[in-house]
Amino acid sequence: MPLDEFPRTKSMEFTTSSGLRGGPRPRNRLARAVLAAPDQQKYLKDLTFYSEPPGDTIPLVDLENWALQRLEPLIYILETVLRLVERVGLTSLHSLSEWRNTLINEIRQNKLIPSFYVLLSSHSGTAEEDLYEARRKDYISHFILRAAYSTSEDRRRWFIQQECDFFRARFMQLTPQQIDSFLQEQGLHYVKLNDAEKNVMIQYILGDDKNAEKKKMLDLYKVPWLDALELVRGRRVFLQAGMAYITTQEFTSIVTQKFREFLEREVQHMSLSMGRILEDDERMQKLLQNFEKYYLGPDYSSRGDTSDRITLDMIGTVSKESYPLCMRHMHEEVTTNHHLKHFGRLHYGLFLKGIGLTLEEQITFWRGEFTKKLDPDKWDKQHRYGIRHMYGKEGHMKELSPYSCIKIITSSVGAGDKHGCPFKHWDPRNLATKLKSIGITDAGVSEIQGFAVGGHYQIACGKVFAFTHKGAEVGINHPNQYFEESRAIITGKLGKKSLSQEASGSDSASNVAAKVGGEEMNDTALWDGELEPMDIEDSNHITGFASAWA
Ligand code: SF4
Repeated sequence: MPLDEFPRTKSMEFTTSSGLRGGPRPRNRLARAVLAAPDQQKYLKDLTFYSEPPGDTIPLVDLENWALQRLEPLIYILETVLRLVERVGLTSLHSLSEWRNTLINEIRQNKLIPSFYVLLSSHSGTAEEDLYEARRKDYISHFILRAAYSTSEDRRRWFIQQECDFFRARFMQLTPQQIDSFLQEQGLHYVKLNDAEKNVMIQYILGDDKNAEKKKMLDLYKVPWLDALELVRGRRVFLQAGMAYITTQEFTSIVTQKFREFLEREVQHMSLSMGRILEDDERMQKLLQNFEKYYLGPDYSSRGDTSDRITLDMIGTVSKESYPLCMRHMHEEVTTNHHLKHFGRLHYGLFLKGIGLTLEEQITFWRGEFTKKLDPDKWDKQHRYGIRHMYGKEGHMKELSPYSCIKIITSSVGAGDKHGCPFKHWDPRNLATKLKSIGITDAGVSEIQGFAVGGHYQIACGKVFAFTHKGAEVGINHPNQYFEESRAIITGKLGKKSLSQEASGSDSASNVAAKVGGEEMNDTALWDGELEPMDIEDSNHITGFASAWA
């Protein structure tokens, strides 16, 4: 539910971005703080390390929208990286201008988010105030996501990786002059060689470099070799007496590494402060705790077109043909052992809803399986409510959406649980056995295991798709997308929500916000009907991030 749709009480009269209109003082410490004007100094540059938290007064609804808008390029970057990793391998990826060009061009062409597009453009013709607003949004949205994704190791890792890739792509398009001033602004005081030193070193540095003539025009710096590990590893730098000699253009990997180290420390620090922030402010609690569930992409909450939906009598067959490993495993568990724990029921039940099963069919399915071991009356009392809840027939009466890969990959999985992503959560030997059982060759198994061990779970899943669908290459980001891509190939029809549609960024931010606001709130414990939406009765502004997050 978007924050502006939360039930409001009469005391809630603080509604404008320009400040308080009146009404009783908010009860909590954050909202009692003095309203602060934007700190313009923070928003003078297109790219920074985001060192200081913003101190502005910001409407909650803006916080939510801006953070959602930032998620869209981050997810997009992830998809672009995944596609390129498959083609060129991870180690050569970071030096690829192809990567930068693909990314920047796709963001530009699709104009995913106007404000980010402005920051990736040359700015010509852009009004100063639009540029300022774009930078402010960029800065503030980074901090919101930093807070939202700081709450577990997996989420921190995901956020840091996407932010570093986003940073890298943006840094790669800075001019040498901009890089120079960036280094100064961030306090990275590397020594620039004077002309005499440069003339001596240039012959060693350039060697048989194809771009030697161009590079001669660039400034040369010497940096401690430990700061240039990525270049050293790739044997792409000249070393002498513990110093690496690099051109301005080669600062990308060094500065991105610095940004990563800085961000890792800051996100860790943020995670320690989160308890206090959430305790202090219920509105922030709602906002931040639900970002981690957000997924940008097609809405798979129901199949829509009933003519080709999957019906209950088909799931035995399609589970073998078209399920991703995570869902196939849960299907086998429930049909073999007639039981699945809470989160397994939720993950698989939402997937089934997404592929087209009606409420009645789901009740028939779960009841039929569980009552092979459980008393039917008990099942009715314990489980019927949860299934109705998924379809918006109980509780807050809103339909829930199936979980994305990110959500499943970052779920906690305990002993006896059958949910989770097999590429992340399974022991490699179990994974190998399963892969062989579905007909994947030994060579295929070891390739897939390599991706899984390296943490590239979705690529591993895409490889399984390719091996089981005649080599078709698909980037996987949602179990229901996997299913639809598979059905499209098997039935010979173009999937309604194919990868190409996703890659074109066809879901607008507003659609995403509407979807996210709709059904993803409070969904983890809904199977058993444990949670109800809570009222928020307070200001819809947040003031003083700096003091809260210090
Ligand atoms: Fe399921 Fe996604 Fe993992 Fe594939 S990558 S098994 S679809 S969670």
